[in-house]
Amino acid sequence: MTDYSETDFSTRAIHVGNDVDKETGAIRRPITMANCYRLPDDASALNWSDPNNLIYTRTTSANQIYLQQRLASLEGGEDCVVLASGVAALSSVFFSFLDKDSHVICSNVSYIAVYRLLNEYLPDKYGIEATLVDTSDLDAVKRAIRPNTKLIHIETPGNPTTTISDIAAIASIAHQAGALLSVDSSFASPYLQQPIALGADLVVESLTKYINGHGDAMGGAVIGSKELIDKIKTEAMVNLGGCISPFNAWLIMRGVVTLPLRMERHSESAQKIAEFLESYPAVSFVAYPGLPSHPQHELASRQMKLYSGMLSFGLNADSETINQFVNALQVITSAVSLGHDESLIVFIGADDERIDFYPEAFGKHGFLRFSVGLEHPDDLIADLKQALAKAGL
Ligand SMILES: *Cc1c(COP(=O)(O)O)cnc(C)c1O
Repeated sequence: MTDYSETDFSTRAIHVGNDVDKETGAIRRPITMANCYRLPDDASALNWSDPNNLIYTRTTSANQIYLQQRLASLEGGEDCVVLASGVAALSSVFFSFLDKDSHVICSNVSYIAVYRLLNEYLPDKYGIEATLVDTSDLDAVKRAIRPNTKLIHIETPGNPTTTISDIAAIASIAHQAGALLSVDSSFASPYLQQPIALGADLVVESLTKYINGHGDAMGGAVIGSKELIDKIKTEAMVNLGGCISPFNAWLIMRGVVTLPLRMERHSESAQKIAEFLESYPAVSFVAYPGLPSHPQHELASRQMKLYSGMLSFGLNADSETINQFVNALQVITSAVSLGHDESLIVFIGADDERIDFYPEAFGKHGFLRFSVGLEHPDDLIADLKQALAKAGL
């Protein structure tokens, strides 16, 4: 296979992991929907759980391997493991690198499943110690270190506040303490942020979001050194069973081709919309890393190529009026998830279980998390305007 290692990100997003199909000459590798692969004539020496050998689809599949090659290249890591969802990828990291005597530090703004796993299930069931801190505050991270700290897990930008944590600085805090740093980079994608180059040991991506980008497949990935990824494959992939369907791996392989173009457009549109919202009288706040008003705007400018398509904002209105606004939207869809081609918005009320972890403005009337899609930004702004007007705002 051609060596693409010296080529640009956009070239690797198209070519790494693809090859001409040997049997048919097709220029795209096929979807291999098979649960298992023919064994060698002499299988006596076979490791039945080898996570890098095609034996059984839970222990790896052809399409999974191709996608792993592409994602390892895009993240600048040695190896990658692809699993069924972002949460499967996150729990594989916790399962592989935490044990009953260990301590983990985690961003207090993180994906809800991470919060539940680290705040509740892992401590209660397995005695793992966890400290949730504001990881945009480096002193708070340092203070949280204990002799048994094995892992620091940060999410940057954080979902849903877009809080930015300093990857390079936290990597050095982690390494001084003999701990690993894992970074959930799902809000940025590898096109906008390269945690491994900044010193992270592991990058976690929800492939469901920007990397697939089309809202039609779920997946998750962890990227890092061969040694760390092999441990995850051997322990958590083979034995926890969160394997990805070859069909979904193929869809994601197709989706990621256009990641660079999509991230440029998402970021450009989100900037315009954030500026529009910030100037609108009924809007109480806008959290978007591309705005100079964002508390970590400068850090985001250093750490990210662009500011991505995710923003949160508040309206000076009661819940009923905010619901009226959401229901009046015509182009933008009210739904969870993010990073899709189409714009998605979700209203999260002030009764959210983690509202106390968010900046104060989020708790006043609740907030709207907006995943700015690839529609024309003028159409999105027009849609926001007419829905604000219909809600009397
Ligand atoms: C959605 C999301 C996840 C979880 O990914 P799934 O594919 O839904 O399991 C993890 N982290 C972040 C930041 C996310 O937005």
